[in-house]
Amino acid sequence: MSVADFRHAQRQRRARQRQSRGLVSTAFLRDGDMKLERPNRSKLYDKRRWRRLAKWQLVHDPLCRLCADRGLIVPATVCDHVVPHGGDPNKFWNGARQSLCASCHDGLKQQIERQGYHCEIDITGYPTDLNHPFNAFGPRGGLLQK
Ligand SMILES: [Zn+2]
Repeated sequence: MSVADFRHAQRQRRARQRQSRGLVSTAFLRDGDMKLERPNRSKLYDKRRWRRLAKWQLVHDPLCRLCADRGLIVPATVCDHVVPHGGDPNKFWNGARQSLCASCHDGLKQQIERQGYHCEIDITGYPTDLNHPFNAFGPRGGLLQK
């Protein structure tokens, strides 16, 4: 490997790291280089169409959905995709949306997307999410089914 090839590989690696953080540049690419896999999501969110859709969502559904499920009345500030779109424009524009508060969007929703359930507990100490592994045998670990 020549010094030029080494430097080129180094630039590619750094660009991939930058892209994973959302900063995208393709100027370093040579013909035949592997295409960067992660789509540029911020391009979708920057569009006026998205801002209007998000505003419409918050006007028509002004309360946080996840807080409402817990009996709380909290104003929503974020228009969220129910199913993660992963940069796919079709899922981005046509997928189901819900209103969330920033706290739920950055906390509970991320947890649910990562592991399939959230870890909140009720006043008795049991997980409230029915998808939580503890509830595999029914609510409260199947203790209520006797
Ligand atoms: Zn909330």
